[in-house]
Amino acid sequence: MNDMSEAPMPSPFGLWNQTAAPRPSFSELQDHFSAETAIVGGGYCGLSAALHLAESGTQPVLLEAEEPGFGASGRNGGQVIAGLKLDPGEMITKFGRERGEALHRFSAGTADLVFSLIERFQIQCEAHRDGWIQAAYSPKVLAGIERRAGELSERGENVELLGKGRLADLLGTDFYRGGLLDRRSGMVQPFSYARGLARAAAASGAMLFGNSRVRRLTREEGHWRLETAKGSVTAKEVLLATNAYLGDLHPALKTAMIPVASYQIATDPLSPELDRAILPARLPVSDLMQLGVYFRRDDEGRFIIGGRGSFTERERPDLFDRIRRHARTLFPALRAINFSARWGGKLALTFDHLPRLVTLEPGLHAAYGCNGRGVALQTLMGKLAADRLRGLRHDDLPIATLPPAHYPFHSLRLPAMIAISNIRSLRRIFARD
Ligand SMILES: Cc1cc2nc3c(=O)[nH]c(=O)nc-3n(C[C@H](O)[C@H](O)[C@H](O)COP(=O)(O)OP(=O)(O)OC[C@H]3O[C@@H](n4cnc5c(N)ncnc54)[C@H](O)[C@@H]3O)c2cc1C
Repeated sequence: MNDMSEAPMPSPFGLWNQTAAPRPSFSELQDHFSAETAIVGGGYCGLSAALHLAESGTQPVLLEAEEPGFGASGRNGGQVIAGLKLDPGEMITKFGRERGEALHRFSAGTADLVFSLIERFQIQCEAHRDGWIQAAYSPKVLAGIERRAGELSERGENVELLGKGRLADLLGTDFYRGGLLDRRSGMVQPFSYARGLARAAAASGAMLFGNSRVRRLTREEGHWRLETAKGSVTAKEVLLATNAYLGDLHPALKTAMIPVASYQIATDPLSPELDRAILPARLPVSDLMQLGVYFRRDDEGRFIIGGRGSFTERERPDLFDRIRRHARTLFPALRAINFSARWGGKLALTFDHLPRLVTLEPGLHAAYGCNGRGVALQTLMGKLAADRLRGLRHDDLPIATLPPAHYPFHSLRLPAMIAISNIRSLRRIFARD
C-alpha cells in the first residue's frame, strides 16, 4: 500500500482538477480598460458578483491572478450548506429580533441561489440537493444540534433531527450519537461549479481575465486604478473578492480576518462492497470534531474527507495523516484502502463567525469571512456585492448590522489562536470518550 506521507506534496486542486469540467480559457489582461465596475478575484464571490452585474446591464471587468476557481473555490469540500455558523437565536441575541430574523432569512437562502444558478445556466458540476448532515459525537454537541433543529423548524426550514440508529443507517458508521439532516443543502463538484459560474458570467457579458494579478490599487481622480503586469483597468466601483488569498492589496484587510488552511484526502472509486457500506445515502457530512472534519462521496464513488488545518501558511503533512487516521476510525474498512489524492486551501475566519461586505474607502468594497461555509454563502455574497456596487445603500444590506471585522493586535492573535485551537483539540479528543 502506498503510504501517503511519503507522497510528494499535493497539487493545489488535488482530486477536483482531475474530475472537473473542462477549463474555460480566459486571456491575460494586456490592455487598458475603463469600466463602471471591476472585481479582483475569481472565486465564487467574484464570479457571482460579475455574473449578477453583467445580468443587470453593466459590463464588469474581473481580474483573477491565476484562473477562476484557483483559491478556495476550486479546492473545497463542495458541501453546499444553507445558513450561517450562528443559529437564529444567537443572531437575535446579537442584533435584536428584527435584524436577527432578517439575517437568518438572508442566510437561509444561500443554497437556493446556488442550485437555481446551476439549473438556470445548466452548470455541469455533479450537483445533488438531497441534504447535508451535521453529526454529533458528544452529548454537548448533540444538545446544540437539537436546539438548532428546533429553531430552524420553528421558522419553517426543511430540517430534521436524526437519532443514533437512523444516522448510522445513513452514514454506515455508528460513531455519532445523533445529528441534523438539513434538506435545504447538498453538494457539488466545487471546481466545476466555479468554472460553470465563470462561463455563465462571461456569457452574460462580464469581461474575465486570468493570469492577471492586480499588483497595485490606487485612487485617481474619483476612480480606482488596478494595475497588472501588462495592463490596467480604471473603475468607479471596485470589489475585492480575494477572501483568504488577500495578499497585500489593502492594509485594512490584513487585520480583518485570520486565514486558515483546510486539507482533504480522497480514495480512488470504492469497490461495490465498500460502496454500499460507506456513506450509503451519499449525503455530505460535517462534524465538530477536533479537526472540524467533513466528508462525502463523489459521483464516481470516491470517499473524500477533510479537516481544518493550521493557522500558518506552511504545509503540514502530519495533518493529512491525522485526517486519514480519523477516516479509518469512522470507517475501519478504509484501513486497507489507499488515499491517492491530497490537497489543501485557505479559508477566512472572522472573530464572530459572520461574513462581511464592507466599504473600505469610497468606491472600494470587500467581501470576506466565509468561516468555512463559502460555497453557498460566497455565491450570495457576490450577488449582494453586485447590488452594492450598483448603488444599494449600505444600510439596506441584510448584513448592514455588521461592522468591519477587525482583530486588534492581529499579529499577537495568531499565536494565541494556535494555542487555543490546540488546547480545544485536546479537550475534544478527551471529551469524546
Ligand atoms: C479545503 C477547503 C474546504 C472547504 N470546504 C467547504 C465546504 O465543503 N463547504 C463550504 O461551504 N465551504 C467550504 N470551504 C470554504 C469555501 O471554499 C470558501 O469560503 C469559498 O470558496 C471562498 O470563495 P471566495 O470567492 O470568497 O474566495 P476564493 O475562492 O478563495 O477566491 C479568491 C481569489 O482571489 C484571487 N486573488 C487573490 N489576490 C488577487 C490579486 N491581487 N489579483 C487578482 N486575483 C487575486 C485568488 O487567486 C483566488 O482565486 C472550504 C475551504 C477550503 C480551503
